[in-house]
Amino acid sequence: MVWLILGNQLLRGMKHNREFEIAWQGLKPGVHTYTYDLDDRFMQERHVDESFSNWKAKVTLVFDKHENFFMLRFDVDGRITVPCDRCGDDFELTLWDEFNLVIKLTNEETEDIEDEDDVIFIPRSETVIDISDWIYEFVVLSIPLQHIHPDNADGKPGCNQIALDLLDKLSEQTNIAKNPLWKGLDKLKD
Ligand SMILES: [Zn+2]
Repeated sequence: MVWLILGNQLLRGMKHNREFEIAWQGLKPGVHTYTYDLDDRFMQERHVDESFSNWKAKVTLVFDKHENFFMLRFDVDGRITVPCDRCGDDFELTLWDEFNLVIKLTNEETEDIEDEDDVIFIPRSETVIDISDWIYEFVVLSIPLQHIHPDNADGKPGCNQIALDLLDKLSEQTNIAKNPLWKGLDKLKD
């Protein structure tokens, strides 16, 4: 149970949130790689959509230190359980994406500088960078927009057919109820 062990390490780290802090001053110039294993606790503490569960996301951060700026690449790889948009049954969705970010060090107050796309300015005096919010944001962004059961190996839809049939019936009934013609007929009956 690799996930369990990593989960426990994460819980211990969470107490101080040190796990997500990078003390860049002590790093040599060049590439440094960090990995983070995220679970339900990390995601739900940040109030992620509650219909998503069983978070198992691994984020690999490649941190490239230069003198006046840092280049960060976040690779997200994982899976979650989501309800299907079509039949409502839960299924497992794969998360995969990568995100780039540039952090520029500045001697000015950062309030005076407007962030550009994917470029963050931080004052040189901020020697520790907490990356937990970016990690959360990127994991959420890696969720595909469409949540529909993949097809089975035989090419048939992987959805719960019984649920789909029931939904069909229900929408038929609502259509009948909404139809003014039927309402008129109901009056005639009285
Ligand atoms: Zn489905």
